[in-house]
Amino acid sequence: MGETAEDFVLVINSGSSSIKYQLLDPESSVVAASGIVERIGEDDSVIQHRADGESTERREPIADHTAGLRLVFEMFAATGHDLRREGVRAVGHRVVHGGEVFYRPTLIDDDVAAAISDLSALAPLHNPANLAGIESARALLPDAPQVAVFDTAFFHGLPAAAKTYAIDAKVAAAHGIRKYGFHGTSHEYVSGRVAELLGRDPGELNQIVFHLGNGASASAIRGGRPVDTSMGLTPLEGLVMGTRPGDLDPGIVAHLARSAHLDIDQIDTLLNRDSGIKGLSGVNDFRELRRLIETGDEAARLAYDVYVHRLRRYLGAYLIELGGVDAITFTAGVGENSPQVRADALAGLARFGIEVDPAANTAENRAARRISPPDAPVAVLVVPTNEELAIARAARRVVDRLD
Ligand code: ADP
Repeated sequence: MGETAEDFVLVINSGSSSIKYQLLDPESSVVAASGIVERIGEDDSVIQHRADGESTERREPIADHTAGLRLVFEMFAATGHDLRREGVRAVGHRVVHGGEVFYRPTLIDDDVAAAISDLSALAPLHNPANLAGIESARALLPDAPQVAVFDTAFFHGLPAAAKTYAIDAKVAAAHGIRKYGFHGTSHEYVSGRVAELLGRDPGELNQIVFHLGNGASASAIRGGRPVDTSMGLTPLEGLVMGTRPGDLDPGIVAHLARSAHLDIDQIDTLLNRDSGIKGLSGVNDFRELRRLIETGDEAARLAYDVYVHRLRRYLGAYLIELGGVDAITFTAGVGENSPQVRADALAGLARFGIEVDPAANTAENRAARRISPPDAPVAVLVVPTNEELAIARAARRVVDRLD
């Protein structure tokens, strides 16, 4: 390959027990290598590294994120990229919660790292893990600029009526309670791609984007700016997800505490890990759910119906909020790969100009594409998301400004 490591951005998405990474050129989108370290802190940790079309796997105990990242660098060196010697243009970190403080890609120094740590109260499951990745990368690549790209950033400017929860305003202000929204990097990237694909100015489009992965969220975007989104203070709100319920009567929390005698951490676990599709059907992977449905499993059928019902509820709400829509787009694991979900979410809406062409919807095609009939008033699209590329580009822009 022609490029040297210095042209590349290393993108790190650090979770509580995993590190996903990609080394890519933000200009050409060429991915030099990618991989994932899983089960950090356990005895059976594993790293899978992909470079030049070849996959390598290593299983050994990995004590913490720094040890994990050190192993990542070893794998890079073994596949022709000695990042610690050659350097990289930047390291881009996905950070889940930027709170009110961060709404732009931000160069990380000690103060920024401390502020990300302070935001852990808002995202206790995510920000500490993101920070572990940041601290490890800063220690191992001390000369590389490190940039934080926040999942909440795109939604920073949500209109007050959309972001305000109707609770005691003083309590809300004291505790940073508002809708922040997540998956912002994906919603921004995908809505930008939609405008490109349609050959339209983003400023003149009303869009609804469904990011349907393990986590799932919807956004309503007018003229390139979000006017509403389904996730809230935390990623629990909104659509039904793999293991999260999405919208709930908040009274359920108090009821569980009083009647089921669950403490707050148990309730948090129930809602984050044991609810959603998994809570209803026992599985959280959509492919397994479909298999169960095909065997006649009624719980799986109900889980699917609840999932689609919620999608349609948000679709209806956002159609009205936007006063009409030009494009509806599906992205992420389920959105990109399940024609059934797309068809069911939009069934029976021809009177609103919303139609899915069955052949286009089910065609084996991994590219960004339109799946509505060419003459339908509303464009329905499938657009693969690429959060790593968006983070790499954002990091690159920050670093270019330093030169
Ligand atoms: P994450 O939120 O972890 O980034 P992804 O965007 O990778 O998640 O999406 C994961 C989800 O996508 C899983 O529920 C998985 O079952 C689903 N998925 C992946 N491939 C397919 C497929 N071919 N058909 C249906 N669902 C799929």
